Amino acid sequence: MSDEWEPIMCYADIATEYDGTVTAFCYCGWVEYGHNTESADAAAYAHQNAPDDIDDDAPATA
Ligand SMILES: [Zn+2]
Repeated sequence: MSDEWEPIMCYADIATEYDGTVTAFCYCGWVEYGHNTESADAAAYAHQNAPDDIDDDAPATA
């Protein structure tokens, strides 16, 4: 296990909650609640392909 922050690799997944809603989440910290299976899957897929939760273009500390 590593607690290293991985800013590039996004691995989104979904999880069905006890109440029947589906949560889409990602290892980068992105999460969306209240989906159904289809929309969560779509959201996870979209996130992986266009992660919007990452500080974009964060340059290396000069
Ligand atoms: Zn992500």
